[in-house]
Amino acid sequence: MYYTSTRNNAIQVTAAQAIAGGISPEGGLYVPSEFPALTAADIEALLPLSYKERATKILSRYLNDFTGDEVEACCVAAYGERFDTPAVAPLHDLGDGRYVQELWHGPTCAFKDMALQILPHLMRVSVGKTNPDEQIVILVATSGDTGKAALEGFKDAPNTRILVFYPVDGVSEMQRFQMVTQEGDNVGVCAIRGNFDDAQTGVKAIFTDDEVKAKLAENGMRFSSANSINWGRLVPQIVYYISAYCDLVKQGKIANGDPINVVVPTGNFGNILACYYAKRMGLPVNKLICASNRNRVLTDFFETGVYDCNRPFYTTTSPSMDILVSSNLERLLYHLSGNNSAEIADLMAALKTEKKYAVSDAVRAAVQEQFVGGCADDDQVAHTIKTLFDRCGYLCDTHTAVAVTVYDEYRAKTGDETPTVIASTASPYKFAPAILEALGGAESEKPYEQLAELNAKTGLEIPQPLGSLRDKAVRFTGVCDNDKASMQATVYGMLNLD
Ligand SMILES: *Cc1c(COP(=O)(O)O)cnc(C)c1O
Repeated sequence: MYYTSTRNNAIQVTAAQAIAGGISPEGGLYVPSEFPALTAADIEALLPLSYKERATKILSRYLNDFTGDEVEACCVAAYGERFDTPAVAPLHDLGDGRYVQELWHGPTCAFKDMALQILPHLMRVSVGKTNPDEQIVILVATSGDTGKAALEGFKDAPNTRILVFYPVDGVSEMQRFQMVTQEGDNVGVCAIRGNFDDAQTGVKAIFTDDEVKAKLAENGMRFSSANSINWGRLVPQIVYYISAYCDLVKQGKIANGDPINVVVPTGNFGNILACYYAKRMGLPVNKLICASNRNRVLTDFFETGVYDCNRPFYTTTSPSMDILVSSNLERLLYHLSGNNSAEIADLMAALKTEKKYAVSDAVRAAVQEQFVGGCADDDQVAHTIKTLFDRCGYLCDTHTAVAVTVYDEYRAKTGDETPTVIASTASPYKFAPAILEALGGAESEKPYEQLAELNAKTGLEIPQPLGSLRDKAVRFTGVCDNDKASMQATVYGMLNLD
């Protein structure tokens, strides 16, 4: 097994090269050439194991140029005391066939920690195998949660710098505060005027610019990426879907071999793609339900086979899903087209020039067989948060509420009663203003008072990393324009290059 590019099948690299490099030189994304098989017996063997042991077993199947000890050391370092529960990704049974998998028990209270707590360790091993003398510069565009999780993961990592761009009006106050107070000697944070897609486009342009790459090389530096285009971000996410299945079997909720459905609140398509990969390995997943907010470009794509970004961009109460260009969809289309890298290169060229593409009938049929798309607007999300809390005593965040809304609609429409795992991607405290609004209105406008207010209303404990933020000093106040030249100048400034 090796890794190839979605846009050029002639490329063959190792897992370490894929992780250290981030993106393939011609702009394609690295994908595994085959999927290791996960049998019912393999699942049985995972049942008694802890999360980090399950992770070690599963990741070893993909990181075939790592030694067993290297994989284990990465998993042990990542999934330890930085998570506030030994379960790491616990399941909450809503009692009606819906199981919420809480992926937000890490240090930044969102699911990005599941991958970004381990990525720096995978990166260290990968760079050690490929380019041991180079300093790695991690460049991140964030819609809110990735930036903070990447900063926490990479802070003070040896031989590494990390620079984060976030859209000035596109992140919540709490998300912004988490980033601008970041500690660590190797970190930089800058706001850009624009939305997430502007930030992502700018970062991609810098990342693939030969002149910039040469400049870094002269200084012993090289770019890599912590965005979900990096294989090292995706592969750890496969683990928790398998782990959720194991938990359901172990708790006697299903028998080993029974199908489940999975619902994922989706932005860049990384999280749900990891579930597709688990399914490709053999995990008995029936439907993959892709939930979007008002930026329903994926919902339309699943219906029509046309991916069209020529539409208004909305900011919503689920900002981490305010995305029009879902980068990881490229990987899915590659697999569903029968690994046709020429076809994918054409689609992505069309996306670049027309902001739009239409897949072939064969690919559309393959997509529709496995995926269901759905979307929910802010009013529906608020209604779901309140009803779920009133009826089930369970408080979920706005992103998770998008998934719950879409799932409930799917279930009502189809009568499909398959036990269903709903990926919960953030702690409700991370989006306290919208949650309070949904529960009847906030009394204070101040972020920290809102945490206390939410605690008083719901009894749910305030996560320590958010509660302790108010004592931290603001370190980063920069804002730059979203054109490539301005962002490039900011990058050079942060790296002390002229
Ligand atoms: C990033 C994020 C998402 C979207 O995940 P993708 O992998 O980009 O699809 C959903 N919810 C939250 C809270 C997030 O931080």
